[in-house]
Amino acid sequence: MKTLHLTGLAAAALMAAGAAQAQQTFISIGTGGVTGVYYPAGGAICRVVSRDRGEHGIRCGVESTGGSIFNINAIRSGELEFGVAQSDWQYHAFNGTSRFEDDGPFEDLRAVFSLHPEPFTVVARADAGIASFDDLAGKRVNVGNPGSGQRGTMEVVMAAMGWDMNTFSVASELQAGEQAQALCDNNVDAIVYTVGHPSGAIQEATTACDTVLVNVDNDVIRALVEERDYYRMATIPGGMYRGTDEDVTTFGVGATFVTSAAVPEEVVFHVTRAVFENIDFFRSLHPALGALDTAEMVSDGLSAPIHDGAARFFSEAGLTD
Ligand code: GLU
Repeated sequence: MKTLHLTGLAAAALMAAGAAQAQQTFISIGTGGVTGVYYPAGGAICRVVSRDRGEHGIRCGVESTGGSIFNINAIRSGELEFGVAQSDWQYHAFNGTSRFEDDGPFEDLRAVFSLHPEPFTVVARADAGIASFDDLAGKRVNVGNPGSGQRGTMEVVMAAMGWDMNTFSVASELQAGEQAQALCDNNVDAIVYTVGHPSGAIQEATTACDTVLVNVDNDVIRALVEERDYYRMATIPGGMYRGTDEDVTTFGVGATFVTSAAVPEEVVFHVTRAVFENIDFFRSLHPALGALDTAEMVSDGLSAPIHDGAARFFSEAGLTD
C-alpha cells in the first residue's frame, strides 16, 4: 500500500487552499442591456473586486437584466446581492411609492455608492419629423420594457404630460438592447433610454442610420425637476454622437449601486473598498465612468440608508465624517 507523504510546505499549502475555499463568497450584480452602461459598469466593479480576491475570497459575476426595477426586485427576493439602479427608483423602492406602491416599502434596500449621471435620452429617426419631445405624440415610440428604469421614468413623464399609451400610433416595449436596430429598421420613429454617455446603444442608433437626439425640455419637465429632488436638468454634449452637433437639453437621474441589509457587512465593505481604492483604474474601464468624483459618489442620489459595510469604508477612508 502506498502512502502519500506530504512535505510540511505542501500540507500547509493544501490547508491554506481549503481555508480560502471555505471563505469563498459569490456575489451577482444585476445590470441592464449589454449595450448600456450598467453592464460594463458592473463588469468594472467585478474586475476591481477580483483584483484582490486573495484577501477576501469574493467571486463576482455580472448579469445582463431588464434594468433598474428588475434589479431592485431581484435584490428584494434575494436572487441578486447587488444591482445598479436609477436614483429615482432607489427612492421609490425604499419609500414604497410610484411603481413600488403595491409591494410596499423595501425597508432593507441599502445604497452603496452612486455612479454616473443618466440623462433621459430620446433618439428619433431624422426622417420622422420629431424636433422636440412634444412631437412624440402620434408617432411610433419604444417606451421600454417594464423592468427598465426608462420605462418607469417615461410613465411618470407621460402622466405629467397627460399622455397614455394611446398617445402614440405604436407604443412598443422592446428591451434596451433591441431599440437601436428597431429604430434603424424603421419599426419605430423614436426610442427612449435613460443611460450614461457615451453608451453603445446610442452609438449604434446614431451610426447605423440617420438619427437625431431630441431636446426634452418644456414646462412640464421643468416643473417635474423643480418638484422632485432626484431629477436634474441635464445636457448631452453636442458632437458626442453623429447627427447631433448642438448640446441637447433634457433632464436626468443618477445611476446608483444598491444592495440589501441582508448582505453581510464584510462583503459590502470589500466591494466598496475595491472600487474606491482602484478608482483611477475603475474610471478607465468605460468612458461614461471617466468623470466619477469620489466626493459625489458617497452622497449624490442616495436616498436609501447607506449599507453599514460601505459606511464603514467611507469613514475609515475619511470620505465621510
Ligand atoms: N437606466 C437604465 C435602467 O434603469 C439602464 C441603463 C444602462 O443599462 O446603462 O433600466
